Amino acid sequence: MERQIYFDHAATTPLCKEALEKMLPYFTEVFGNPNSQHAYGRESVKAVDEARDTIAKIINAKPNEVYFTSGGTEGDNWALRGVANAYKNKGKHIIISPIEHAAMLVTAKALEKEGFEISYMKVDEDGVVDLEHLKSIVREDTIFIGCMMANNEVGTIEPIKEIAKIAKDCGAVCFTDAVQAAGVLKIDVKELGVDLMSMSGHKIYGPKGVGALYIRNGVKVQSILTGGHQERMKRGGTTNVPAIVGFAEAFKIADRDLEKNFNYVSSLRDRFIDRVLAEVPFVKLNGPRENRLPANADFSFKFIEGESILFSLDLAGIAVSSGSACSSGSLEPSHVLLALGLPEELAHGSIRFSFGKHNTMEEVDYAVEKIKEAVQKLREMSPLFKAEGEIKYV
Ligand code: PLP
Repeated sequence: MERQIYFDHAATTPLCKEALEKMLPYFTEVFGNPNSQHAYGRESVKAVDEARDTIAKIINAKPNEVYFTSGGTEGDNWALRGVANAYKNKGKHIIISPIEHAAMLVTAKALEKEGFEISYMKVDEDGVVDLEHLKSIVREDTIFIGCMMANNEVGTIEPIKEIAKIAKDCGAVCFTDAVQAAGVLKIDVKELGVDLMSMSGHKIYGPKGVGALYIRNGVKVQSILTGGHQERMKRGGTTNVPAIVGFAEAFKIADRDLEKNFNYVSSLRDRFIDRVLAEVPFVKLNGPRENRLPANADFSFKFIEGESILFSLDLAGIAVSSGSACSSGSLEPSHVLLALGLPEELAHGSIRFSFGKHNTMEEVDYAVEKIKEAVQKLREMSPLFKAEGEIKYV
């Protein structure tokens, strides 16, 4: 096999050494159940409390506003379903963006069947929420307004502070999915004015299967995982101590190195975007040029399917994704790109490259050469490309 290059950090990241080392004792020596009333239990409680304090400090929340979950999906489900159930006597109108992760979109569809009404904010061609449109669709019975802080496909960063203000003015609970943003952008929940925020460990060099939901004190959220008394009676299930400890450590390191990583990863992405736009014909950068996550570069390659580029690059040892990791595998065009107004044919031909702190400029340059080769080969075989006969391939 040729060399391997990983450009799929928006799907997941490798666990950092510091987090792994911090986690290890909690699998073996310090294995107590934090709910147990003995020394073993108390040691685990101490570790979980420390992790909660660490995360609370990073996002400027109080420790008792941080609830550990199994990841972003659970946080999104809990926020949306939990608020819907807690506030349904006040109203049944919910507003979300059309470019949310499936964890939100599918939950919203399920709630629709249960009698809730879902409206979608408009986004512009870069994926940025149209605040005037949002103002025009809020109602007296709107109980929930949810928008991701940054999109996992195109990387667009959303105006969450302004959205939270609109939610506050109409008395709705404001939620943001910060799964792609936490550990990458500086987040202060109090300054943003959000009521709920989901986060995940594995996008920030932490372990998989762990995350947290910030719930501002005073906001009602019904439990979705009912059972034991864990997480202050709000989320049943034996506490995943090693994962929580690893998540907090990874978050601490991401926060410590935030600016350095932001600048470095952005420089990789910028060189990549510049070279692809200059050297690959018939290509469209999806999402804004500025105001995007440092890691993401999403392109539509005209005349070819995203999947075929993905497989060609995989053969060349370059790992990328078509659409988001969760929707790739289905042959549906990306719902995000459709919401940005792309025609189906371009939404099908999209590839997401997402860079990380271990990538190098040399890898970027190598990948650009491989992309040029793959795209040219696929276009030579593409009936669509040939059908547009006049076009000269340069
Ligand atoms: N929300 C966003 C924006 C995501 O990108 C993801 C994962 O890709 C999730 C939620 C789901 O997070 P998890 O994988 O931790 O369940």
